Formats: sequence, structure tokens, C-alpha cells
Amino acid sequence: MFLKGKTALITGSTSGIGLAYAKALAAEGANVVINGFGDADAIEAERKALEAASGARALYSGHDLTKVEEIEAMMAEAAAAFGAVDILINNAGVQHVAPVEEFPVDKWNLIIALNLTSAFHTTRLALPGMKAKRWGRIIQTASAHSLTASPFKSAYVTAKHGIAGFTKTVALEAATFGITANCISPGYVWTPLVENQIPDTMKARGMTREQVMNDVLLAGQPTKQFVTVEQVAAMALYLCRDEASSITGANMSIDGGWTAQ
Ligand code: NAD
Repeated sequence: MFLKGKTALITGSTSGIGLAYAKALAAEGANVVINGFGDADAIEAERKALEAASGARALYSGHDLTKVEEIEAMMAEAAAAFGAVDILINNAGVQHVAPVEEFPVDKWNLIIALNLTSAFHTTRLALPGMKAKRWGRIIQTASAHSLTASPFKSAYVTAKHGIAGFTKTVALEAATFGITANCISPGYVWTPLVENQIPDTMKARGMTREQVMNDVLLAGQPTKQFVTVEQVAAMALYLCRDEASSITGANMSIDGGWTAQ
């Protein structure tokens, strides 16, 4: 349990990739702060399971990270419970798909606020504690869309390219303090979010389940395999190890070859 005594805060960790990070870090003994929306009983069950796995504490902080006051409240709750955040994973994110000229302004503002600006706020609030301890790990769930674009995803692509640049800057500023900052950039990951799109797409396009998966979802992913949440979480765990202390300012692709094309 190499993370015993460390505290990890993972935004957007009530489902999907974020929950997988929380499970992986808890399994190595870390205290975890989880965040995100969802059914209160289900979240409480996950919180208890994380404590059982880690033998440490798990705190749920359900703030809306599109609002700066709520981000500040979450970081204050983490500091009050654990003293400081040693591992910060900025993972909360949403998507909206529309052409630029029809892109709803409120959706643009939401995606930039959550997928990009919230990471600035959590990072600026976590850095002083990390610098004081001279150890820290800042990990962003970016995306293949931090490296390449797709049509109709302007806000998402902008936010993800932005977070890649932000991460490089943080890496340079924190480099002499034992703190690393890196992006993990998955391609299509098998999460409930992706699975739930399949029936509607089958109906809309008159396709079989296999056709939707291969010709729509995995069209740009050469392996024709979804990335798993466990594979993404394993990379985060590696970035927390001492062996990864020289990896900083990097953008780690886990995309089945998508961005090699
Ligand atoms: P998900 O929908 O399963 O998880 C998103 C999480 O963010 C949930 O816990 C949700 O409650 C939380 N959230 C949403 N709005 C919030 C808000 N305003 N404040 C706080 N929390 C909020 O999605 P996922 O697929 O696990 O995605 C997680 C991250 O991974 C996102 O940043 C996404 O862009 C990125 N990503 C996903 C994929 C994929 O194929 N699934 C690929 C590349 C990158």
C-alpha cells in the first residue's frame, strides 16, 4: 500500500473514470475525497466501499465545480479533514455536440467552466500544501481531444487543449518542489456514458450493436477496442509512484492508436 498516509482528491468521481481512480488509489491505502453528482445512497455505498478497501478515510464532497465558491468549499473541506491534498486528479467533465454556429452559449460556458477552469481553481488551491510538503501529484483526465479535434465538439476540444497547456505551465512552476503535473489522454473509454448511447444510435442509424461500436464509436480507434477505466486508473497510479517522479509536463495517450494517425 504505497499511498498510505497520502490524501487524493478526485473530481467527478461518482462514476466512470473518476470512480476507477478512487478505487485504485484507495486500494493503495490513500485517503480519498470523492466528488460529483448522483444517487445519495449509491454514493454512500461507494464511499463505504472505498474505506473498506483502503483502511483509510473516504470523504464525499458533492459540490458543483462550475462555481468558484463551491470549489473553494470542497478544497476547504478536504483541508479540514486531511490537512492537505497530496494527489489532485481533475477529472470532472461533460460534453455537448453541435456545430459552432449553433453551439448553445450556456453549454460553451458550462464546458469551459467545468472541464478547464475548475482545474485552475483546484490546482491553485492545492499547490501551496504540496509545495510545503515538497511532494505532490497533479493529474488531469484530458482526452485524445487535447491533441486532435473532431467536428461539433468545439467547447470540449478547446477545454481539453487548454488543460494540456495549463498542465505544462504548472509542471514548470512546480518542478523543483517534488510535484509533477501530467495529463492522461484516453480515447473512447467504456463507461456507462458510452454504453448508454448505443441503443439510441442503433435506432437512429438503423445499425446493429456491433456496427455502432465499430463504425461509429470506434471508427477512429485503430485497435477497435474500448479503453477500460481500469487501464486509465493504472496510469494514474503509476504517475503517483516515485519511479514516475521525472515524468512531468507530459501528455500520456491511452487511445488505442487514435492520435498516431
Ligand atoms: P462520467 O459522466 O461517467 O463522469 C463524470 C463525472 O463528473 C461524474 O462523477 C459527474 O457526476 C461529475 N460531474 C458532472 N458535472 C459536474 C459538476 N458540475 N461538478 C462536479 N462534478 C460534476 O464520464 P467519464 O466518461 O468517466 O468522464 C470523466 C472524464 O474523462 C471527463 O473529463 C471526460 O472528458 C474524460 N474522458 C472521457 C472519455 C470517455 O470515452 N468516456 C474519453 C476521454 C476523456
